Amino acid sequence: MVRVAAIMVALAAAAAVDPAYWTALRTVDGRMGTIAYRLTTANAALCREVEPTPGLQLHAIDQYAIDAQPGARRAFGFARPVQVEAVAPGSPAAAARIAADDALLAVGDTAVTGPAPDAADTSVTRDAAQALIAVQPAGRPLTLTVEHRGVARTVVVPASPGCRSAFEVLLGPGMTASSDGRVVQVSVRFFERYDDAAIAAIVAHELSHTILRHRARLEAAGVHWGLAGEFGRNARLFRRTEDDADRLSVHLLRNAGYDPGAAVAFWRAHGGEIDAGLFRSPTHPSPRARADALAAEVAILPPPGARDDAPAVLATRDQSLR
Ligand SMILES: [Zn+2]
Repeated sequence: MVRVAAIMVALAAAAAVDPAYWTALRTVDGRMGTIAYRLTTANAALCREVEPTPGLQLHAIDQYAIDAQPGARRAFGFARPVQVEAVAPGSPAAAARIAADDALLAVGDTAVTGPAPDAADTSVTRDAAQALIAVQPAGRPLTLTVEHRGVARTVVVPASPGCRSAFEVLLGPGMTASSDGRVVQVSVRFFERYDDAAIAAIVAHELSHTILRHRARLEAAGVHWGLAGEFGRNARLFRRTEDDADRLSVHLLRNAGYDPGAAVAFWRAHGGEIDAGLFRSPTHPSPRARADALAAEVAILPPPGARDDAPAVLATRDQSLR
């Protein structure tokens, strides 16, 4: 699921009261949500941990501070505490005619609860609603009670398993993308600069880190993050995880109906921009080497229509890094 990390918001006061700012933010969240929906559901067979992925993004009223972000509350209405922020086109949620601004009242027999009266600037309520969905069996239909313009109805959404991961758009001026094994984070600046094909390539790379268990395997290998990570054995192991995430990413893109060549094109066209920023590090391959390696993996992808549920690089997820 996609969520905005409200804690990262460093907004000018004018932006905070302007509903247009929040509408634009919803569009960015919707792009992330659709890309995440496509990549996680199309690649569910490659993931050990799956969860119901109906194609819904939720948000809750207490994510937006009453005094600091009044524009958000006006832009989104919030007749109920938890509402649909966006729906991925083509998803089971869309087929069930669940729409943006519908309220989520219950998951199965469990009512969605609202925030404490003075709660603000927290994702607790949204996360609790999200968790209600995540604990349902991924292979079974999902029963949701939603409310559209004051009229409640219960819908049974067909089973839609997807790789278990959260996805967040990070606000603020930075240009970062990361996966800690639980959450994939991509800076809002990427969405401002690049089209969805490029964003999908970035998200697929980060989701690959999750699927290949890189965080846990690097920790098990005793590597050091930070400056010490730039040298010697640490750097070599980080570099290997980068190469493997790139290799798997083009398979994820292909399975989700994205052009895997977009990853190659992105690094050829924009690698210099990325490399000049936070990505400049001896632990990351140069943009040209990266594009060449991606192109080599694209060249060995199965032909269109053939199944691609066991890419060779997937076997590395159980190997210890040394
Ligand atoms: Zn990476």
